[in-house]
Amino acid sequence: MNERWRAIPAVADLMAAKETFWCNDALRPFAEVEQEMGRADIADAAARLQRFAPFIQKAFPETVEEQGIIESPLREIAATKEGMKALGAVPEGRLFLKMDSHLVVAGSVKARGGIYEVLKHTEEIALAEGLLGEDGDYAKLTDHRDVFAGYTVQVGSTGNLGLSIGITSAAVGYRVVVHMSNDAKQWKKDLLRSKGVEVKEYAGDYGKAVAEGRALSDADPKSYFVDDEHSVALFLGYSVAGKRLRAQLEEQGVIVDAEHPLFVYLPCGVGGAPGGIAFGLKQEFGDHVHCFFVEPVQCPCMIAGLATGEGEKICVQDLGLSGVTEADGLAVGRPSGMVTRMMQPLLSGCSTVEDGRLFDALRVLHECDDVFIEPSSCAALAAWQDMAKFEKAKEYIRCHGLAEKMPHATHIAWATGGRLVPEEIRKEYLVKKL
Ligand SMILES: *Cc1c(COP(=O)(O)O)cnc(C)c1O
Repeated sequence: MNERWRAIPAVADLMAAKETFWCNDALRPFAEVEQEMGRADIADAAARLQRFAPFIQKAFPETVEEQGIIESPLREIAATKEGMKALGAVPEGRLFLKMDSHLVVAGSVKARGGIYEVLKHTEEIALAEGLLGEDGDYAKLTDHRDVFAGYTVQVGSTGNLGLSIGITSAAVGYRVVVHMSNDAKQWKKDLLRSKGVEVKEYAGDYGKAVAEGRALSDADPKSYFVDDEHSVALFLGYSVAGKRLRAQLEEQGVIVDAEHPLFVYLPCGVGGAPGGIAFGLKQEFGDHVHCFFVEPVQCPCMIAGLATGEGEKICVQDLGLSGVTEADGLAVGRPSGMVTRMMQPLLSGCSTVEDGRLFDALRVLHECDDVFIEPSSCAALAAWQDMAKFEKAKEYIRCHGLAEKMPHATHIAWATGGRLVPEEIRKEYLVKKL
């Protein structure tokens, strides 16, 4: 089995834990793919978030200014683009940071999918329990904590999904249990416990925490399990980002069309967050957007699943890798099969990065643009730089007829977490060199 995989050049690099760039030969024109997939589901998710906006405002006062819509800024980071040149060549075109790292409530990209799924479940219970009344005022749901306290929400997590589900569920009133893998940082467990969330810790990796959590939840009829590997709701919650990003680009006068390509770099763990966002972006921009995922060299589960065609049947340990990385948000050894199948015709490619580059990028971004993000997020900046680093990336640009368009290109590094990192740990990260 191993020998067959080794014949695929990108997989041979993965097995040697070498940084690599994998180009997706199965990428298809979006018009073809679109015929098989709808966009209605994304609109449904966006509408549900809108209905819940009055509730969100009341439950999370920090969202009042944005009228209960949880969205992150899009910021040009021209100084970082210059600063990154000290680490190697950089691609032509403007560089922006999509700051999901700073999303309110959950402090990470998980605020999109996680909050959405908890709200969708809450709507189902509210309708079944007759809590929404004639006027359908969602703000009134904050008066029914006693009802929600009779229900449990559970989730398995490397950290950030647990924070998002835990904080949101606790705000609705649910009993919450978060099953944490051994990669989860102590401060994330402490923060959850301070919100009254029950945190169970497992010696094994993420897959184990999920399996245990799922089994415990399934045994309890009043318990709901948020399933990162299979959840369509999570995926759709993430995909709402596409339309919102289009509005932000328009606001900033950034054009995306055949002459002005858009490149987006998304850090990938199990695949739900980057997959859902990429799905939403392809619906908006079709072939004009080029989506790239990025993973740690010791934990490249998505490339492994896509490049070998094995999907969720392969894990990084099958390739002789440890799965251990400083990028805790990306420490997932087995990809979501659902996401590998969705991404097969839509993803442009994927690269892997050594942990040391995450901290190098973290410092440059902090020094040049005064933004702090967590190590997992920094993979997005490394992936942007990879477009100028790898021959395979340059080949992608040539093969898609993009070479002469690169001066008018827009690149977005999708920062996925950071806001909630405590001050002492920020200081540690800012001086860390590997
Ligand atoms: C969860 C997470 C990701 C990746 O999301 P997946 O759905 O696991 O692929 C990326 N960055 C951070 C900071 C995360 O917490």
